[in-house]
Order: sequence, then structure tokens, then C-alpha cells
Amino acid sequence: MSAISFSQQVDRNFEKAAVLTQHDPAMLGLIKNCNSVYHFTFPVRRSNGSIEMLHAWRAEHSHHKLPTKGGIRYSLDVNEDEVVALAALMTYKCAVVDVPFGGAKGGIKIDAKAYSRDALERITRRYTFELYKKGFIGPGIDVPAPDFGTGPREMAWIADTYQSLAPEKLEALGCVTGKPIAQGGIRGRKEATGRGVMFATRELCNQPEEMRRVGLSVGLAGKRVVVQGLGNVGYHAALFLAQEGATIVGITEFNGAIEKQDGIDVEALVAYRKTSPNQASHGFPGSTSLPSREAGLEIECDILVPAALENQITDENAPRIRAKIVVEGANGPITATASESLEKRGIMVVPDHYANAGGVVVSYFEWLKNLSHVRMGRLEKRAEEKAYRRLLGAIEQKTGSSFSDQEVRAATQGADEEDLVNSGLEETMVTALHRLLEIRNRHPGIDLRTAAYIDAIDKIALCYEDLGIFP
Ligand code: NAD
Repeated sequence: MSAISFSQQVDRNFEKAAVLTQHDPAMLGLIKNCNSVYHFTFPVRRSNGSIEMLHAWRAEHSHHKLPTKGGIRYSLDVNEDEVVALAALMTYKCAVVDVPFGGAKGGIKIDAKAYSRDALERITRRYTFELYKKGFIGPGIDVPAPDFGTGPREMAWIADTYQSLAPEKLEALGCVTGKPIAQGGIRGRKEATGRGVMFATRELCNQPEEMRRVGLSVGLAGKRVVVQGLGNVGYHAALFLAQEGATIVGITEFNGAIEKQDGIDVEALVAYRKTSPNQASHGFPGSTSLPSREAGLEIECDILVPAALENQITDENAPRIRAKIVVEGANGPITATASESLEKRGIMVVPDHYANAGGVVVSYFEWLKNLSHVRMGRLEKRAEEKAYRRLLGAIEQKTGSSFSDQEVRAATQGADEEDLVNSGLEETMVTALHRLLEIRNRHPGIDLRTAAYIDAIDKIALCYEDLGIFP
């Protein structure tokens, strides 16, 4: 456990960067403090007939841009400090990847696994109703998304509840993102955070100067990766990193860790866990089971991706981390002081509010789709294909040789929704990384986390300056 709370850690990271900027202290206070927090309770009837009071929160950290945006978490660990910390991280995250939203976060203190589907539906709809009553949800106000313990199903319930409360709103579907496709979702959203982790990691590994710093060869191919958490973020990160040539040598889950130096087939492991007792990874063919889930984080590797929960790498276990790069798939998986101690040991940390921003980037695309009421690519796909065909025809005429059917098909395919989403995500992650590297290089001795905070602070300050609040 860390000596200071999660939100204090976020503030500590903020202040470390703030002193390197030229902004007025009042401006820095305005950026750092949480604008509003709503804590409420409501009853739920359990299947045995008993009534339980649930605690729930929504924090809107910054209204410098609207709507605010951030996930909803179902976990017994949810508390006000955590919600506020995660909302602040969302503000900084949106700024780093140029998504025009303020940050928010919500949560209900429940163990989702202990409730039936019907109970979860009632809880989710009631939570939405409570947010609606107090003006904490709406396409131009505050737009939730999935997080730990929630997914497309919960987002569909939220959208449906909101639509029934605000039937006149044409843009009502934009009140929440991460919805199933048929409910106004967008292709590529489910995979987006993990895919963004892959783009960030791949781009970093392609930088010779960065690889020289950590003593690794250039390129993602062959890098040994360990992933903590095989949920939405961890599973997709592992899958896409493997597809790009990395070797997944370790996976650690809440119920145990396994190591397999010649590579874990992630899809096969997920299938195995579905049928194994207690859904454990233990006994996965060719793997070695480690004594504890914590031991999984300490496997020697090139890249460690903690993608489960916050506070997983602390002062206690940081000295035993044997990775060269740690990419924060989760929010706040490394405490502030542990992160500094990793950096001192030459381990590069790719910070959460950049590394796991893929989800909010694609959520932004989903929100745009909901406001425009048209699927991306629908208008231009065929026109693009025809233009490519005309181009190939002109080349054939000029050169006198013709393309095979296969070559024509490959060269003339227009971009559909998923292509455009993934292209926008790649562009965002790559561009942001280069900006962070450039900021870090301008301030000798700082790490990427501090560079990402400087980037966010400067962008939010610019927004307030443009409003004329600070001369
Ligand atoms: P999830 O619920 O889909 O997955 C979390 C996984 O972690 C589960 O498989 C769970 O069993 C596992 N886990 C729990 N405790 C563990 C432990 N002690 N050791 C190892 N594994 C453990 O959640 P998610 O959506 O993948 O979110 C994971 C993290 O990523 C959270 O910090 C979340 O805030 C962050 N995040 C998620 C998104 C998103 O789009 N889902 C976006 C940005 C950041």
C-alpha cells in the first residue's frame, strides 16, 4: 500500500510538472482541483428479498471543455478519492491526446460478479437516473464509458435509460460511449485501449535513441512482454503486441500467474481459462505456474504492461521489477514514488494518461458518429474505390501492362469505419508520443510522465487564457 492516497499521487505528479511551467499559481490551482463530485446512495433489492444500500459517485474534474468524459467502474474498491483521482487523470489524458473533453469518472461500490444480470441492470439504470436527476449525464454535459467491471452491456442500459428520460434529444445516443454497435457504438471501440497500448509501445520501440537508453534493440519484433490483467485492456494489448511480433512470456491474473518463455497464445489461454477450475491459468500447456500473482509482475522481460488496477507497483515491489520498459495499460498502476524509483534504475515508464488513452480517443469518434448520425466511411468508401480504379486504369494505359484481379482488389479497397477508427487512433498515439519525447528532451532529466503532465497543463492553461480568465 502507498502512504499517500491515489488522488494525492496524481496531484504529486501534477505538481512535479507544474513547477517546470510558467503558469500563475492560481491558474495551476484551477487546473488541478476537481470541479464537482456527486456522492449518492440508492437501494437495490437482492434476489433473496433483502434490501441493500449502494454507494455511488460521479466526479467531473474539469469543465474547461465540455462534455466531460470518463469511465464507470464497478468494484468494491471504489471510493471518492479514487473517483476524483481517475477523473483528474481523464482531464490530463484528454489533453495529451487532443480530445476536446474535460475529465470525469464514476463508480459504484459493488462486486459485479456477486449480482445477477437482472440486478446489475436495475443498478445501472438507477445509477443513470440519479445522474440524470442531478445533471451529471448528457451528450453535451458528461459522457460515461466502460471501465473496470463494466462493458458494452452496461453502456447499452445507460443509453436506453437516458433516451427514455430525454426522448426529444436527437443526439441522446451520444450520452455514453463504448456501446454495442447496434446501439450506436463504433467498430474498434472495444479493442481501442489495448490497440492504443500497442501503437504507443511499437512507436517507442521504433525510436533508436529511446531503445539505446534502455539497452534494447530497435523494433517491437521479438520483445518479451508480460501483461497483468487479461481483461479488456490487457487481453487486447497482449493480442495486438503479439500480432506485431512481440512474444508474450507472462500473464498474471487475480487468481495466479504463468510464464512461458517461448510465447503464450493469448486467445488459447482465454479459451483455456473458460474451462479450467476457478477460471485459472494454472496448467496451461507448456507454461510454468508461478507461486503468486505478484510474482508475475517480477518476471524478467523487456516490456511489462500492468493492465489491471491501480497501486500494483509500489515501493515494496518496485526493486524487484525486471522489465526495461513499463507501459501503464491501467490507470495509476505504479505509485508516484515507485515510478521515480523505476526511472532511477533506468526503467522507462510510459505513463497511463498517454499509454491507455486509446479508449477515450475512439470514444470521441463514437460520440462524433452519434452526433452526426452517420457511420464513418459510409459516404466516401465507394467514391474512394472508384478513384483508385481510375488511377490503376491510367497506369495500365501508360505502361501497357495490366494488374491482376488480386492486385486490383488490394489496391482499390476504400476505408470502412474500422479502418478509419484505427487510422485515427494510430495517428493520435504516434503524434502524441513524439510530442512527449520532444517535451522530455527540452527539459533535461525529466521522465515521460512529467512530460505528459507539462503537455496537459500547457494545453488546459491555453484554453483558460483564451477565455480571458487569466490575462
Ligand atoms: P476489466 O475489468 O475488463 O479487466 C481487468 C482484469 O484485471 C480482469 O481480468 C481482472 O480479473 C484482472 N485483475 C483484477 N485484479 C487483479 C490482480 N490483482 N492481478 C492481476 N489481474 C487482476 O477492466 P479493463 O477495462 O481492462 O480496465 C483495466 C484498467 O485499465 C483499469 O485501471 C482501467 O481504469 C484502465 N482503463 C480501461 C480502459 C477501457 O477502455 N476499458 C481505458 C483506459 C484505462
